[in-house]
Formats: sequence, structure tokens, C-alpha cells
Amino acid sequence: MKALQKTERGPGHMRLREIAEPTCGPGQLKIKVHYAGICGTDIHIVNADLPCRPPVTLGHEVSGIVAEVGSGVRRARVGDKVTVTPYVSVRCGQCRYCRSGYYALCESTLNVGHKVDGAFASYIISQDDQVFRLPGNVGLDVGALSEPLACSVQAVSELCHVEPGDTVLISGPGPVGLMTMQLAKAQGAKVVVAGLHQDAQRLAVAGEMGADITVDVENADLTAVTRGLSGGYGADFAFECAGSDASLRQCLAAVRKLGSVVILGLHGKPAQVNPDDIVYKQLTIRGSISHTWDTWDRTMAILAEGLVDLRPLISHRLPLSDWQEGIRVCEERLGLKVLLQPD
Ligand SMILES: [Zn+2]
Ligand SMILES: [Zn+2]
Repeated sequence: MKALQKTERGPGHMRLREIAEPTCGPGQLKIKVHYAGICGTDIHIVNADLPCRPPVTLGHEVSGIVAEVGSGVRRARVGDKVTVTPYVSVRCGQCRYCRSGYYALCESTLNVGHKVDGAFASYIISQDDQVFRLPGNVGLDVGALSEPLACSVQAVSELCHVEPGDTVLISGPGPVGLMTMQLAKAQGAKVVVAGLHQDAQRLAVAGEMGADITVDVENADLTAVTRGLSGGYGADFAFECAGSDASLRQCLAAVRKLGSVVILGLHGKPAQVNPDDIVYKQLTIRGSISHTWDTWDRTMAILAEGLVDLRPLISHRLPLSDWQEGIRVCEERLGLKVLLQPD
């Protein structure tokens, strides 16, 4: 089968190559990949800002149909529409993080698409407990966005408790930002979405998807706009979804005293902030990475209930052979979510 692999360490070294079809052992499922989303993490791996174990097939946001099940598999059958949580294909299962559901924090975890073969290929192998059946109303295209949605669900619903009437700032109108925005709206918050001038198209989508206000920070004072929406105080919660220094500083400025800043974006380098901005406002700063088993159950329920509409986030569907175009679109931020379709 064809697989898009990183063949060596260092920037680049990406090749679409022919590899053997994986086989399905006991307790495993073989899934025919229908869609696999390109994530910022994949771009970091391509550029060697994140570690990986080459040769490895990239891709961790996936949907597909179960093609084969090994003995003892209970969570899905051949023909089921499924998605997988990408952190748990290899983990210790014994440490306090594994046992409390925070599998992504396990020291032994080997992520799908970085350390073990991922979804930019015709087939992927999943462990039984790693697979989630997609609700009947969810198409395979939207199903491939389950994993990034789960990341936002953890941030909005589990690490913070966004409540009706809160003012929420989303800094960074990429796919994770816009999913976070929809979840905050579903919780009854007023939402400001901020981006750069070059994000005009993404900000327009944010407006269509229900943002109360969108702000081009190069043309307007984000702090003033956010205060205007919140009785003069500032945002109760700011979600940093851009992974940039400037975005983090804007979150610190636009959040109210005693508010919270949640960092979802990966920065890849140190950021310059003034700690006094945190101290004088008595802010809570949190990081949010990935999800737990509970988060996945909640995410499937949110999709089943139709509480978010992820279809406007899918800007490109490309055959796997057009992977270079897909990566270019992501790097130049020309669209939102790019889905690759293996043969
Ligand atoms: Zn991702
Ligand atoms: Zn563990």
C-alpha cells in the first residue's frame, strides 16, 4: 500500500512510498482509512520541530471503516465507521497517568503518526480500546476531525468550566480555534475570535459559524473590543490557539483580572511575556494537550447531538498523492482543515 512517511530525521525527508499492508493481530483492528487530516503537529514533524521515529507514516486524525478484526475485539465490527485516539497504541497502562485516563501524559506512550505508523496510508492498525464508533449522523469526513475536537473539548469542558454569559476570547482562527469557539458558544458564552490580517478568510468563517465578534488585531484594539463585550472587564477565559508569542501576550492583555488563559497552541520555542501581567491580574494559566477516555466519550456525544457543525472547517479534500499541496496549504494558512484521502 502507499504510505506518506518521514524517512529520516531532520527537516523534510518526506516520501510517498510503497510499504507492506499491516496485519491485524489479536485485540487489534485493521481500518481502511477514508480521511486523514493534516494537523499543525504533522507540519512540526515535517520541519523536525517535534521528535519522531523514522521511518514512520505520519497522520493521527483519522476516520475509516473497519476491514478486519483480530480475536477478542469487542468495540467494533467489520464495516463499522470509526475513528481512533492516537496516543494509546503503545503505553504502559500502569502509571498514575494511564490509570487516571491521562494516557497522553504517560512516559511510555508512543504516539500514532510520530512514533508508530499513522493514518496517511490505505490502512491503519488500532488496538481495541483505542477505537470509537462514529455516531450514525456523522460522516466519515467530519469523523476525521474527532481528535482535534476532543482536544478542544478537554480545554473548554473539562479543564475550564465555561458557563452561560461568560466572555471567551479565542486567539487564532485555525481549526482548533474554531472548534473551541463552537464549543464555547454551545456552553452559552459570548465569543470574540481574533486573528491576523492574513486570516481574513478564516475570520469570515468564524463569523459565519457564530462568533459574536471577529477581530483583525492589526486593525483593531483586541483588549478594547473584548472589554466592550464584557461590561468593561475583559474575557473570563482566553484560549491561545495560534501558538505565537504575540497571541499569548494578547490573551494576557485581554483576559480580565482573576481570569484564565488556556494554551492549546504548540509554540515550538520560548515566548516572551511579562510575568507581572499574570501576577497583577491574579491569572490562572493552563496548558491543554490531547484528551482522556472521558473526553472521547463526551466528544462522541457532542457529535451525536449535533452541538457543533464541523463541516465548514473542511476546506480541502485531496488524494494522498497530492500531499505536497496539502502541506503547502497548511503552512501558508490558505484554508482550514485539509483532509487527505488514501487510495
Ligand atoms: Zn492533531
Ligand atoms: Zn503509563
